[in-house]
Amino acid sequence: MTATPLLRLLMLGAALTVTGCATPDAPSASERASCETGAVRLTQDFSTAPDYACERTGDSAFELVVIPEDPDINPSPWYAFDLHAERAGEARVALDYPEYRHRYQPRVELEGGHWAALPEDAVIVSEDRQRATLTVDIAPGATRIGAQEVISLADRADWRATFAERTGMSRSVIGESRQGRPIEALSRPAASPEAPLIIILGGQHPPEVPGVLGLRAFLDALFEREVNSSVLDGYQWLILPDLNPDGIEHGHWRHNTGGLDLNRDWGPFTQPETAAAFAAIEAQITDGHAPYLLLDFHATRRDVLYTPPDAAALTPFAFSEDWIAVIEEEWDSETPAFDRGPSHNVGMPTSKTWFADTYAAPGVTVEYGDNTDRDRITNLSQTAARALVRYLDEAE
Ligand SMILES: [Zn+2]
Repeated sequence: MTATPLLRLLMLGAALTVTGCATPDAPSASERASCETGAVRLTQDFSTAPDYACERTGDSAFELVVIPEDPDINPSPWYAFDLHAERAGEARVALDYPEYRHRYQPRVELEGGHWAALPEDAVIVSEDRQRATLTVDIAPGATRIGAQEVISLADRADWRATFAERTGMSRSVIGESRQGRPIEALSRPAASPEAPLIIILGGQHPPEVPGVLGLRAFLDALFEREVNSSVLDGYQWLILPDLNPDGIEHGHWRHNTGGLDLNRDWGPFTQPETAAAFAAIEAQITDGHAPYLLLDFHATRRDVLYTPPDAAALTPFAFSEDWIAVIEEEWDSETPAFDRGPSHNVGMPTSKTWFADTYAAPGVTVEYGDNTDRDRITNLSQTAARALVRYLDEAE
């Protein structure tokens, strides 16, 4: 049957009505279809992309409803999507935040896997910050946009494999996430079976990409320099770079798929991800390695080290004070490398607090700013790594 013009108009009206009542938490098939078909399309179907309700508001205009995976969550409103076009042009995407505020400056993937922030005049944020409108120049093919650089689970697995190969580290699967994804450890054995244990964590909070970039630069600077080997040999190293693979895969703001912030589960260990990390740490201790230091990489609104209070009765005593002093010496600038927060989240079941309370050894959360220049992230990490080698060398 061929639809009469009137019938076509009625059908169009019905379609518009359906898309018009978009509810924040239930993207219907027809809503998504309206964005995923046509000459210019928007899709959210890759690793780290959430599944937000999408409404087409024009031939090359879309609206996404940006809501978290669970209510009452840390305000880290992540988004990531592809725009597809047959020919070059301009697309417009409105990010609608019903209960939160626009936080992340949008980034676009360029050729060769490089990323750049969208120009400032391409992003218009409403006064209450509950809406941001992006104007994006699109080339034929797909253009990827993210709240930060998009680093998929496959990218992370590739990085771990390449890094392990370059540095001679061993890789092992220490457990599985709730949805059965492997959690991988990198390790470097000490020269002596009684050597102290240093633990490095990352990837607990999915949108905190500057923490991923910082962790990678830190590990590169620490382990790729042959000159560091004799110092590094004095310690047993356990590295867990990607602790929340399910949250990363689904583009979560904060949680794993158990509805929990993993960095509030150190101590209770109710989730398979944190329980696996704990078991891996305990296995090292059973083998004779006394806990010495824990570093946990994250991102927030500034470059800051959250440390234990100076006077805390920990061994090594006043590690943070001493390490930071060496960092600042190496940094050699009028303005400090990192801010310092000496009593952040005291009493909360975070990795650093649990480590200090359980083993009387220092735990430090290393935070990079959301918008910190990426070269500065690399410099900060290289400086922190150099300072750690110096500290460990002098501690021997
Ligand atoms: Zn975090």
